Amino acid sequence: MRKRIRLLTGDRPTGSLHVGHYAGSIKNRLELQNSGKYDCFVFIADMQALTDNAFNPRKVRDSVKELMLDYLAVGLDPKKCTLFVQSGIPELAEICMYYMNLVTVARLQRNPTVKDEIKQHNFEKSVPAGFLVYPVSQAADITAFDAEIVPVGEDQMPVIEQTREIVHAFNRIYGDVLVMPRGVMPENILARRVPGIDGQAKMGKSIGNCIYLKDDADTVRKKIMSMYTDPNHIRVEDPGDTKNNVVFKYLEIFGRDQKKVAEMKAHYQRGGLGDVVVKKYLIEEMEAFLAPIRARRQEYEKDMDKVYKIFEEGTKRARKIAKQTLKRIRKAVGVEYFKGEEE
Ligand code: ATP
Ligand code: MG
Repeated sequence: MRKRIRLLTGDRPTGSLHVGHYAGSIKNRLELQNSGKYDCFVFIADMQALTDNAFNPRKVRDSVKELMLDYLAVGLDPKKCTLFVQSGIPELAEICMYYMNLVTVARLQRNPTVKDEIKQHNFEKSVPAGFLVYPVSQAADITAFDAEIVPVGEDQMPVIEQTREIVHAFNRIYGDVLVMPRGVMPENILARRVPGIDGQAKMGKSIGNCIYLKDDADTVRKKIMSMYTDPNHIRVEDPGDTKNNVVFKYLEIFGRDQKKVAEMKAHYQRGGLGDVVVKKYLIEEMEAFLAPIRARRQEYEKDMDKVYKIFEEGTKRARKIAKQTLKRIRKAVGVEYFKGEEE
């Protein structure tokens, strides 16, 4: 039988999942998972979350539980997909150690995503070393599972590029050991970087401008009603801008009827369509998408023991694979000295 292609991706437990995650990465994960063609691994990157939350471990710990529920609620299926927690696999940290020697500090500092995030966190003068090297630890996560496909949003593409450079360097120096991965983004360009409800370029947990998958209907309604539209669209009859208008961007990402969205867009542009009407339509569309996820989440919440068990089993399964990869890596680097080194 032909070996199935490995898919791996993850999220940082720095809050619960938002609609940006859904559009940017989860939708692709679900489609690929359900196609049956891929051997899927999805994980909670708690060690990575600690790189910029070392002083707030409680937030990370609480968010791990949130993410577990979110994963199951969106339809990641433990029968089709190995769900695991990063810290349960210490082999990843050792793999990261070997890779750190193949990357310069200057290269990490030049990474556009890392650069943006350093600014966002005010880390300019005091970036934690762990945070600066998170792209290296991410390379360990991806390669430990021989992943070929990594579904991500646009902001993560430079980080995947870093993994690819490490794979190149490692294979050149130590032999053909690692599998080359590639990032996969959504087809809809707008979904690759869903903007925040405040109009900022990216919805992000650490920025706090999100609609969360677990938000109740009333919260979603309030968030949408407060959303950024066109500040120059003062009277209903005024022509409005749909290009920088977050409400329209969301409709283009989450709307089920794109023909209707296109008609509304044209109407808004020529004038005569009020923001409240557009927002009410977006509320309807969001509800249709979020209500079933919310309901499944509530079901799983009733049995947290079962939820933890799913991740415990997934982590065990994943660890076996990471151990094999580490063995391959140690052998290639030449750091095996003793017979019977393996337990
Ligand atoms: P943090 O602010 O803590 O980094 P985050 O909201 O960026 O949190 P991550 O856990 O870093 O979330 O990202 C998980 C996945 O979701 C990544 O593949 C990332 O590219 C994708 N993603 C995150 N935010 C968005 C967004 N606004 N639009 C599209 N994809 C996104
Ligand atoms: Mg992020």
